[in-house]
Amino acid sequence: MRPARASIDLDALRHNYRHARALGGGRALAVVKADAYGHGAVACARALEPEADGFGVACLEEALELREAGIRTPILLLEGFFDAYELASIERHELWTVVASPWQVDMLERHHATRPWRVWLKLDSGMHRLGLSPAEYLPAWRRLQALPWIDTLVAMTHFARADELSHAGTGGQIAVFDAAVSQLPAGTPASLSNSAALMAWPAARRDWVRPGLMLYGSHMLDAPRAEADALRAVMTLESQVISVRELDVGQQIGYGGTFTTTRPTRVGVVAGGYADGYPQYASAGTPVVIDGRAGELIGRVSMDMLTVDLTDHPQAGVGSTIELWGPRLPVAEVAARGASSPYRLLTGLKRVPRRYI
Ligand code: PLP
Repeated sequence: MRPARASIDLDALRHNYRHARALGGGRALAVVKADAYGHGAVACARALEPEADGFGVACLEEALELREAGIRTPILLLEGFFDAYELASIERHELWTVVASPWQVDMLERHHATRPWRVWLKLDSGMHRLGLSPAEYLPAWRRLQALPWIDTLVAMTHFARADELSHAGTGGQIAVFDAAVSQLPAGTPASLSNSAALMAWPAARRDWVRPGLMLYGSHMLDAPRAEADALRAVMTLESQVISVRELDVGQQIGYGGTFTTTRPTRVGVVAGGYADGYPQYASAGTPVVIDGRAGELIGRVSMDMLTVDLTDHPQAGVGSTIELWGPRLPVAEVAARGASSPYRLLTGLKRVPRRYI
């Protein structure tokens, strides 16, 4: 079998969830949308189910996949619903939903529910993507509160720039949110924080936090050190050297001949390329781990292969293990070298079999 594979450490996932929840000080919604950021939604939800307060998914299809796999824990639709046909399924499967637009409030008013609903009403506190404006928020809240079948309303918002540690926009969003919530009944549950906010903006921790990226052990590169060190990488993307060649000085490697050797060089060819989800534009010098030791990429990444410098790794050869990201090499570091982001790399894995450990 081709040696490229992704190992998923479910213990690390549980560890990160516990850490996130403890940090938030309340309840934590484990965000498992987009197939749990590429880690496998069903396997991750099963691993977390005994302790998770709830799961966050993007849409009904993702929620149904979890319900069909037997997951009974609350599931929140983070993007809400898209048409009236979904309301019956939401009710039948006892899902929670975000309401983020006035037309969704209209639609709920026309709905005849047979079970209690829990709705998270989203405020646009400054991101200007989804959510009701501050002027729309209180009227929408009152209309939903008047529906006897809505038993809980949670106030929520989402940050645009929480990963920029000193950006004033996050403080501004918190202030807009607090002003809106101050008009709601005392004790209304609230939720603001994604991973970056949870790690770096203590003022945003409320009843619920919504960690995604940090569950998988990743974070922005300048995250507070203590918080970053507390996380464990869940995914290891690794493969093996399948060919070795010795080149003289002045030889070019790979498509476009973008890399020229400046010393006699041992080149290792690795079975893993951009069609597996490795960033196509990772530059020469991007770190890799060769049999447990730091090494680097040389030459351009191809569809199915990439090349690494084995010159300083005399013991390495065909069959050597190459960690492309994982516990020894943060995916965010690889992303930064490849004009990408950890979100994109984790959710972009293709062709590579997953193995759970
Ligand atoms: N909350 C909402 C509403 C989201 O859309 C997302 C993801 O985009 C998250 C939480 C989790 O974000 P992160 O992965 O940055 O923790």
